[in-house]
Amino acid sequence: MACKTCNSDKQSVFNGETAIHFPGLTGLDKPIVWVFPKLVVCLHCGFTDFTVPERALQVLQTGSPVDGAVVWVEGGQPSEKASAKGPSQGAND
Ligand SMILES: [Zn+2]
Repeated sequence: MACKTCNSDKQSVFNGETAIHFPGLTGLDKPIVWVFPKLVVCLHCGFTDFTVPERALQVLQTGSPVDGAVVWVEGGQPSEKASAKGPSQGAND
């Protein structure tokens, strides 16, 4: 697949580790979301593309921690809010 920015075919996949912050002062009260995506890096221009996993995406949509997403909340510790509810591990909750 060609780079979306420069059309180069020189792309490689790397393991990524990214903390996503909500912007502005109001973002200080929101969780910081960690994602560990596969990064598709254009070795020609540096454009990088990745997809935020579903659980982390839910945190970005709601501004609140959800089960299965790795987040840092104010005054807390980084943790995966593990679910022990079984059925809530489904793809649509
Ligand atoms: Zn490129």
